[in-house]
Amino acid sequence: MPIPRRVNSNHLKWYKEIEKSLFRFFGLFDNLCSLCYEETLRQIEQGGERNNMEHWCCCVADNQVHDHWVVLNPIQEVSNGPLWYEEVKRKHAGWQEGMHRRRLPGNGPCPAICTGGCCIKSCRPITCTTQLCEKMIFVLNKSGVSGFGWHKALQIEEIIELPGILQALYGVRTGKVDSSQVELYLKSIKELAVKFSGVSLQRRKSLAAESIDHFLK
Ligand code: SF4
Ligand code: SF4
Repeated sequence: MPIPRRVNSNHLKWYKEIEKSLFRFFGLFDNLCSLCYEETLRQIEQGGERNNMEHWCCCVADNQVHDHWVVLNPIQEVSNGPLWYEEVKRKHAGWQEGMHRRRLPGNGPCPAICTGGCCIKSCRPITCTTQLCEKMIFVLNKSGVSGFGWHKALQIEEIIELPGILQALYGVRTGKVDSSQVELYLKSIKELAVKFSGVSLQRRKSLAAESIDHFLK
Protein backbone atom coordinates (compact mmCIF):
# COMPACT_ATOMS: atom_id res chain seq x y z
CA MET A 1 0.00 0.00 0.00
CA PRO A 2 1.55 3.39 -0.96
CA ILE A 3 2.40 5.88 1.77
CA PRO A 4 0.87 9.30 1.15
CA ARG A 5 3.83 11.73 0.96
CA ARG A 6 1.73 14.82 1.36
CA VAL A 7 -1.84 15.02 2.50
CA ASN A 8 -3.91 16.90 -0.08
CA SER A 9 -5.99 19.39 1.92
CA ASN A 10 -8.80 19.58 -0.64
CA HIS A 11 -9.07 15.82 -0.77
CA LEU A 12 -9.03 15.64 3.02
CA LYS A 13 -11.87 18.16 3.23
CA TRP A 14 -13.97 16.08 0.82
CA TYR A 15 -13.04 12.90 2.63
CA LYS A 16 -14.30 14.33 5.92
CA GLU A 17 -17.52 15.52 4.28
CA ILE A 18 -18.22 12.05 2.88
CA GLU A 19 -17.19 10.41 6.16
CA LYS A 20 -19.71 12.56 8.03
CA SER A 21 -22.50 11.60 5.65
CA LEU A 22 -21.56 7.92 6.03
CA PHE A 23 -21.55 8.28 9.83
CA ARG A 24 -25.11 9.66 9.58
CA PHE A 25 -26.14 6.71 7.44
CA PHE A 26 -24.46 4.15 9.75
CA GLY A 27 -26.15 5.86 12.70
CA LEU A 28 -29.48 4.63 11.32
CA PHE A 29 -28.52 1.12 12.39
CA ASP A 30 -29.13 2.54 15.85
CA ASN A 31 -27.87 0.18 18.59
CA LEU A 32 -26.73 -2.67 16.31
CA CYS A 33 -22.99 -2.11 16.94
CA SER A 34 -23.40 -1.73 20.68
CA LEU A 35 -25.46 -4.96 20.85
CA CYS A 36 -22.78 -6.70 18.80
CA TYR A 37 -20.01 -5.34 21.03
CA GLU A 38 -21.78 -6.34 24.25
CA GLU A 39 -22.59 -9.83 23.00
CA THR A 40 -19.00 -10.30 21.81
CA LEU A 41 -17.62 -9.29 25.22
CA ARG A 42 -20.10 -11.59 26.93
CA GLN A 43 -18.96 -14.52 24.80
CA ILE A 44 -15.27 -13.71 25.35
CA GLU A 45 -15.81 -13.55 29.11
CA GLN A 46 -17.47 -16.93 28.97
CA GLY A 47 -14.45 -18.42 27.19
CA GLY A 48 -15.58 -17.83 23.60
CA GLU A 49 -18.34 -19.59 21.75
CA ARG A 50 -15.94 -20.69 19.04
CA ASN A 51 -18.42 -21.28 16.24
CA ASN A 52 -19.51 -17.63 16.32
CA MET A 53 -16.09 -15.98 16.43
CA GLU A 54 -16.10 -15.00 12.76
CA HIS A 55 -19.10 -12.79 13.51
CA TRP A 56 -17.72 -11.09 16.60
CA CYS A 57 -17.62 -7.30 16.82
CA CYS A 58 -15.15 -6.14 14.15
CA CYS A 59 -13.48 -3.56 16.44
CA VAL A 60 -12.80 -6.21 19.07
CA ALA A 61 -11.63 -8.89 16.64
CA ASP A 62 -9.51 -6.76 14.27
CA ASN A 63 -6.84 -4.11 14.55
CA GLN A 64 -7.54 -1.65 11.77
CA VAL A 65 -5.34 1.04 13.31
CA HIS A 66 -2.16 -1.00 13.07
CA ASP A 67 -3.13 -2.77 9.85
CA HIS A 68 -3.36 0.65 8.19
CA TRP A 69 -0.75 2.47 10.24
CA VAL A 70 1.43 3.71 7.37
CA VAL A 71 -1.43 5.59 5.77
CA LEU A 72 -3.45 6.32 8.87
CA ASN A 73 -0.70 8.01 10.86
CA PRO A 74 0.08 10.87 8.42
CA ILE A 75 -3.64 11.56 7.93
CA GLN A 76 -4.28 11.53 11.68
CA GLU A 77 -1.31 13.82 12.38
CA VAL A 78 -2.75 16.40 9.98
CA SER A 79 -6.35 15.90 10.97
CA ASN A 80 -6.25 15.28 14.73
CA GLY A 81 -2.80 16.52 15.75
CA PRO A 82 0.60 14.85 16.37
CA LEU A 83 -0.52 13.42 19.72
CA TRP A 84 -3.51 11.62 18.27
CA TYR A 85 -2.18 8.14 19.06
CA GLU A 86 -1.25 9.06 22.64
CA GLU A 87 -4.83 10.15 23.08
CA VAL A 88 -6.17 6.90 21.57
CA LYS A 89 -3.96 4.84 23.92
CA ARG A 90 -5.05 6.92 26.89
CA LYS A 91 -8.73 6.34 26.08
CA HIS A 92 -8.16 2.63 25.42
CA ALA A 93 -6.27 2.14 28.69
CA GLY A 94 -9.35 1.48 30.79
CA TRP A 95 -11.01 -0.64 28.13
CA GLN A 96 -12.63 -3.69 29.73
CA GLU A 97 -10.00 -4.45 32.33
CA GLY A 98 -7.79 -7.31 31.18
CA MET A 99 -9.82 -7.99 28.05
CA HIS A 100 -7.01 -6.92 25.70
CA ARG A 101 -4.89 -9.80 27.03
CA ARG A 102 -7.41 -12.42 25.85
CA ARG A 103 -6.80 -14.46 22.71
CA LEU A 104 -9.01 -13.22 19.89
CA PRO A 105 -9.69 -14.65 16.43
CA GLY A 106 -7.97 -11.79 14.56
CA ASN A 107 -5.24 -9.39 15.66
CA GLY A 108 -7.62 -7.29 17.77
CA PRO A 109 -8.69 -5.56 19.77
CA CYS A 110 -8.21 -2.34 17.83
CA PRO A 111 -6.59 0.22 20.13
CA ALA A 112 -9.23 2.77 19.13
CA ILE A 113 -12.04 0.74 20.68
CA CYS A 114 -13.07 2.18 24.01
CA THR A 115 -15.99 1.51 26.27
CA GLY A 116 -17.97 4.22 24.45
CA GLY A 117 -17.15 2.91 20.94
CA CYS A 118 -14.48 4.12 18.51
CA CYS A 119 -12.53 7.07 19.88
CA ILE A 120 -11.26 8.26 16.46
CA LYS A 121 -13.83 10.80 15.46
CA SER A 122 -12.59 11.64 11.96
CA CYS A 123 -10.46 10.10 9.21
CA ARG A 124 -10.80 6.56 10.49
CA PRO A 125 -9.28 3.79 8.37
CA ILE A 126 -11.30 3.61 5.16
CA THR A 127 -12.62 0.10 5.83
CA CYS A 128 -14.19 1.31 9.09
CA THR A 129 -16.08 3.97 7.17
CA THR A 130 -17.18 2.04 4.10
CA GLN A 131 -17.73 -1.57 5.06
CA LEU A 132 -21.15 -2.91 5.89
CA CYS A 133 -20.82 -6.12 7.86
CA GLU A 134 -23.07 -9.10 7.27
CA LYS A 135 -25.34 -8.01 10.15
CA MET A 136 -25.90 -4.64 8.50
CA ILE A 137 -26.64 -6.28 5.16
CA PHE A 138 -29.13 -8.52 6.99
CA VAL A 139 -30.95 -5.45 8.36
CA LEU A 140 -30.93 -3.66 4.99
CA ASN A 141 -32.26 -6.75 3.24
CA LYS A 142 -35.00 -7.54 5.75
CA SER A 143 -36.16 -3.93 5.80
CA GLY A 144 -36.38 -3.87 1.99
CA VAL A 145 -33.70 -1.17 1.58
CA SER A 146 -31.39 -3.36 -0.48
CA GLY A 147 -31.69 -6.74 -2.13
CA PHE A 148 -28.20 -8.07 -1.28
CA GLY A 149 -27.96 -11.35 0.60
CA TRP A 150 -26.20 -11.32 3.96
CA HIS A 151 -23.72 -14.12 3.32
CA LYS A 152 -20.85 -11.60 3.23
CA ALA A 153 -19.84 -8.05 4.10
CA LEU A 154 -20.07 -5.42 1.36
CA GLN A 155 -18.52 -2.06 0.62
CA ILE A 156 -20.88 0.91 0.49
CA GLU A 157 -19.93 1.46 -3.18
CA GLU A 158 -21.45 -1.91 -4.06
CA ILE A 159 -24.75 -0.69 -2.67
CA ILE A 160 -24.76 2.80 -4.15
CA GLU A 161 -23.26 1.41 -7.37
CA LEU A 162 -20.53 4.01 -7.74
CA PRO A 163 -16.77 3.61 -8.12
CA GLY A 164 -14.77 4.10 -4.93
CA ILE A 165 -13.26 7.58 -4.61
CA LEU A 166 -12.31 7.49 -0.94
CA GLN A 167 -9.00 5.70 -1.57
CA ALA A 168 -7.83 8.56 -3.78
CA LEU A 169 -9.12 11.19 -1.33
CA TYR A 170 -7.32 9.43 1.52
CA GLY A 171 -4.09 9.23 -0.47
CA VAL A 172 -3.80 5.45 -0.76
CA ARG A 173 -4.39 5.55 -4.48
CA THR A 174 -3.17 8.05 -7.02
CA GLY A 175 -5.63 9.84 -9.24
CA LYS A 176 -7.66 12.98 -9.31
CA VAL A 177 -11.12 13.29 -7.92
CA ASP A 178 -13.28 16.23 -8.96
CA SER A 179 -16.10 17.95 -7.15
CA SER A 180 -18.81 16.43 -9.39
CA GLN A 181 -17.74 12.92 -8.31
CA VAL A 182 -17.89 13.99 -4.68
CA GLU A 183 -21.35 15.54 -5.14
CA LEU A 184 -22.68 12.41 -6.82
CA TYR A 185 -21.26 10.22 -4.06
CA LEU A 186 -22.81 12.41 -1.35
CA LYS A 187 -26.15 12.48 -3.17
CA SER A 188 -26.22 8.68 -3.43
CA ILE A 189 -25.47 8.19 0.26
CA LYS A 190 -28.17 10.70 1.14
CA GLU A 191 -30.72 8.88 -1.02
CA LEU A 192 -29.85 5.59 0.64
CA ALA A 193 -30.14 7.20 4.08
CA VAL A 194 -33.54 8.70 3.22
CA LYS A 195 -34.77 5.26 2.12
CA PHE A 196 -33.43 3.62 5.29
CA SER A 197 -34.83 6.30 7.58
CA GLY A 198 -38.25 5.56 6.05
CA VAL A 199 -38.13 2.30 8.03
CA SER A 200 -39.49 2.99 11.51
CA LEU A 201 -37.03 3.17 14.39
CA GLN A 202 -38.91 0.37 16.12
CA ARG A 203 -38.48 -1.87 13.07
CA ARG A 204 -34.78 -0.99 12.72
CA LYS A 205 -34.24 -1.83 16.40
CA SER A 206 -36.07 -5.12 16.16
CA LEU A 207 -34.09 -6.08 13.03
CA ALA A 208 -30.84 -5.20 14.81
CA ALA A 209 -31.77 -7.59 17.64
CA GLU A 210 -32.83 -10.24 15.11
CA SER A 211 -29.50 -9.88 13.32
CA ILE A 212 -27.54 -10.38 16.55
CA ASP A 213 -29.61 -13.49 17.30
CA HIS A 214 -29.01 -14.81 13.81
CA PHE A 215 -25.23 -14.34 13.73
CA LEU A 216 -24.10 -14.46 17.32
CA LYS A 217 -26.37 -16.77 19.26
S1 SF4 B 1 -19.40 -6.47 13.19
FE1 SF4 B 1 -20.95 -5.12 12.30
S2 SF4 B 1 -22.50 -4.85 13.90
FE2 SF4 B 1 -20.64 -5.63 14.85
S3 SF4 B 1 -19.55 -3.80 15.56
FE3 SF4 B 1 -18.74 -4.35 13.53
S4 SF4 B 1 -19.95 -3.11 12.11
FE4 SF4 B 1 -21.05 -3.14 14.06
S1 SF4 C 1 -10.56 2.41 14.09
FE1 SF4 C 1 -12.44 2.54 15.27
S2 SF4 C 1 -14.05 1.77 13.91
FE2 SF4 C 1 -12.05 1.11 13.10
S3 SF4 C 1 -11.71 -0.96 13.96
FE3 SF4 C 1 -10.71 0.54 15.29
S4 SF4 C 1 -12.25 0.98 16.87
FE4 SF4 C 1 -13.32 0.04 15.15
